[in-house]
Amino acid sequence: MSEPILSVSDLHVNYGRVQAVRDTSFDVPEGGLVTLVGSNGAGKTSVLAATSGLVRPRSGRITFLGQDVTRWSAHRRVSAGIVLVPEGRQILSTLTIEENLQLGGWRRRQSGARIGQMYDRFPVLAQRRRQLAGTLSGGEQQMLAIGRALVAEPRVLLMDEPSMGLAPKMVDEVFAVIESVRAEGVTVVLVEQNARRALTVADTGHVMETGSIAHSGPANELLEDPRVVKAYLGME
Ligand code: ATP
Repeated sequence: MSEPILSVSDLHVNYGRVQAVRDTSFDVPEGGLVTLVGSNGAGKTSVLAATSGLVRPRSGRITFLGQDVTRWSAHRRVSAGIVLVPEGRQILSTLTIEENLQLGGWRRRQSGARIGQMYDRFPVLAQRRRQLAGTLSGGEQQMLAIGRALVAEPRVLLMDEPSMGLAPKMVDEVFAVIESVRAEGVTVVLVEQNARRALTVADTGHVMETGSIAHSGPANELLEDPRVVKAYLGME
């Protein structure tokens, strides 16, 4: 087995007295698609926040390409290739679509060419490049958030609930983008409440419950695991 591109080891994240994540470890192979699923408040967002440098873990280690990045700033991690598509998209609604994409490339040379590629990839953004991002629909804003992250040339793309709140057709489009990004060689860590869809596209899944990983395995096996079906897939 080759070395994982990203490893999370014995991660603990606290917010004051709230223990959001404990004893959480998993590896992400280069080019892989790993999903974290689980109910609201299970700690998935906090794992991504610690991995991207937005929160400092209480303890544990994040290793990227063999380097310990646990104490690196968020922007240094972006430069190295760890890029987050945050929950709720977090696009800047009073800037234009083009300006939002430019923000993704602020630490990259020749980001203009990458922005051009995003317009090829998401024609709806090209048509509306001079409009304010706040005028986009929720699904279009999600495409912009993904496009902004891709302009930063990720080696590992961390995606937090990209399908949340979207109409079924847009959910399909978001998952198609996730699969195409992965097919281009970008490693993906996907946090999703839509466990069935996430496990369908992923290689490996981890089910988080109250701050730690309760079940892990090949995603296709988790889809059939009676414990996972009962808790997360049965009602869909
Ligand atoms: P969701 O799907 O709702 O985002 P999640 O699985 O991503 O859930 P987290 O958002 O990581 O879970 O939250 C884990 C726990 O940490 C929850 O109990 C949550 O209330 C708490 N928490 C998250 N962020 C903060 C914060 N900034 N301050 C205090 N508690 C927080």
